[in-house]
Amino acid sequence: MPLLDVQNLKTYYYTLRGPVKAVEDISFQVEKGEALGLAGESGCGKTTAALSILKILPKGGKIIGGKILFNDKDIVKLEENDMRKKVRWKGISIVFQGAMNALNPVYKVGDQIAETILVHEPHTKKKETKERTAKLLEFVGIDPSRADNYPHEFSGGMRQRALIAMAVACNPDLLIADEPGTALDVIVQAQVLKMMKEMKSRLNLGMMLITHDLSIIAETCEKCAIMYAGKIVENGDIVRIFKEPLHPYTQGLIKAFPSIKTAKTEMTSISGFPPDLLKPPPGCRFHPRCPYVMDVCKKEDPKPIEVTTGYYVACHLVKKK
Ligand code: SF4
Repeated sequence: MPLLDVQNLKTYYYTLRGPVKAVEDISFQVEKGEALGLAGESGCGKTTAALSILKILPKGGKIIGGKILFNDKDIVKLEENDMRKKVRWKGISIVFQGAMNALNPVYKVGDQIAETILVHEPHTKKKETKERTAKLLEFVGIDPSRADNYPHEFSGGMRQRALIAMAVACNPDLLIADEPGTALDVIVQAQVLKMMKEMKSRLNLGMMLITHDLSIIAETCEKCAIMYAGKIVENGDIVRIFKEPLHPYTQGLIKAFPSIKTAKTEMTSISGFPPDLLKPPPGCRFHPRCPYVMDVCKKEDPKPIEVTTGYYVACHLVKKK
């Protein structure tokens, strides 16, 4: 049984101009101790998928179909009170994009971590809270003596680490990180990702990394799901996705990315723009940009096919082997 099993999830935003079909029938799984990268261009629905899992969609956003099984329980059906008490922070926590500025500038970092523990576990004794805070700081590579510092006394990388410490303060089973490398320089970013990888193994944590940066996924994840215009077009083992991608969009994304491991110097971008999700194109949503488009692509939405065990591709060109 996977830790997280998202089945045919659909999330729309209801606007005055009509429903924005932000997430359309997506399925994926995350196991304990495993990291899944959710990749794709901005606006493809990655963040909406994460917000749906935590049921913290902004106004107008609504899950209109599918299941989100977390530890085998469908959290789509859970009441807000149960989500707050049983799932958020204790079961699933999230580190938001650009969250380095999420720390309150007028409180000491250690106090902010302690507060997270106390809000969710109010009966924790003062001494235990202090000890847990120190351990959490140490765990993310910050000297516990820095607990008495204010956020402005931390570097960007340390603030990001402190936020990760807060996110794992109540021992969740699943950590979602939305663009964890944003606003960090590459060296600090690499250190933070290394720390997250170690944390995943030590805590047997399931992880979902949401990013447009394929190199972050290649470095950190075991599995990858590629999203395009609200749909998952390719999903499976990271090595295979990077070595022999089958979907034309994944192929385009990988070609558009610099490689530091091979002599590849030529980078090509995908022509055109993602569609307006108020009115996505019929058939395959990628067809207006696809170099291999066929008549069938303009009429029929390709369903995901399991090409080999656990590896899915949604494209009319791809057949089950
Ligand atoms: Fe291209 Fe057709 Fe495959 Fe879509 S279904 S990616 S348009 S070949």
